[in-house]
Amino acid sequence: MLEHYCVIGDPIAHSLSPDIYTELFARYNIPAKYTALRVPTGELASFIKRIPERALHGFNVTMPLKTAIEPYLIYKDPDARFGVNTVCVREDGLYGYSTDAQGFRISLSTQGRTYRGSRVVFIGCGGAARALIYDALQNGAEHVSIVNRTLGRAAEFAQEPAVSILPWHSLGEACRSCDLLINATPLGMHGVREDFSNFSFLEELPKNAFVADLVYNPQETKLLQLARKLGHNGMNGLGMLAWQGVLAFEKYTGIAAPQSVGEEICSMLAVILRSR
Ligand code: NAP
Repeated sequence: MLEHYCVIGDPIAHSLSPDIYTELFARYNIPAKYTALRVPTGELASFIKRIPERALHGFNVTMPLKTAIEPYLIYKDPDARFGVNTVCVREDGLYGYSTDAQGFRISLSTQGRTYRGSRVVFIGCGGAARALIYDALQNGAEHVSIVNRTLGRAAEFAQEPAVSILPWHSLGEACRSCDLLINATPLGMHGVREDFSNFSFLEELPKNAFVADLVYNPQETKLLQLARKLGHNGMNGLGMLAWQGVLAFEKYTGIAAPQSVGEEICSMLAVILRSR
């Protein structure tokens, strides 16, 4: 019998998760199907009730359910402290994980970059940014600057000696001491009206600074385009998306895919996005 997996969230129609997992299950000859289910927050409880009748083995969780899922878990992994993206359905209940931060870190390493010894500037401090900030501090970042519209969202990092929390207008100043700039806001994303109102902060970056955008649609945001024009290397969020999927697949199946598979999934997603 086919094992059933899915991704839940709202909106969900454009999710690339079915592409990622269908490919991974096929590669490893696992008889499984993977679907996308639209589940608004108000319907999460009834989705949970129907897990046995759907014979679900696991599911991925995206906006707006990443923290709403928490009360239904019997186990929440420390990596999921800022939100859950992967749930394994086991005999005794639901186990929640997050593979986002590790997925980003692996994707960074494929570009020859690590947090170790780096001065990192995060733009944004939402769920994704907070997971990455924590991970950057755990993995040797020398200093982290958090630049966000709403300063209070960074409160949990306020006591960290290696962290500065800065208002939006200080972005340029933060970029002066930066090895790795990470956009963790939806600015520049397809379907989002707003983009950065100006990009002059990029001119403050030191010569070898690397620019990462968590946005992957479009694949080359204006931020990345302008950073490249100024001579900076960069990457979009597709590698993170591919690797968080590969790592979630490992939670489901115990199979750790090699780096080549992560890279092939990333290339596959780039082609799919171009054709949409
Ligand atoms: P979130 O929790 O809603 O946080 C959004 C962040 O962006 C907040 O810091 C928010 O600031 C800021 N922001 C939103 N609109 C803004 C605006 N107009 N001007 C300035 N700041 C603005 O979202 P999230 O889950 O962290 O996701 C953030 C981004 O990462 C999204 O684009 C998402 O698609 C992307 N992402 C990508 C991957 C991947 O696999 N590549 C994975 C996860 C997330 P305030 O705190 O002031 O509201």
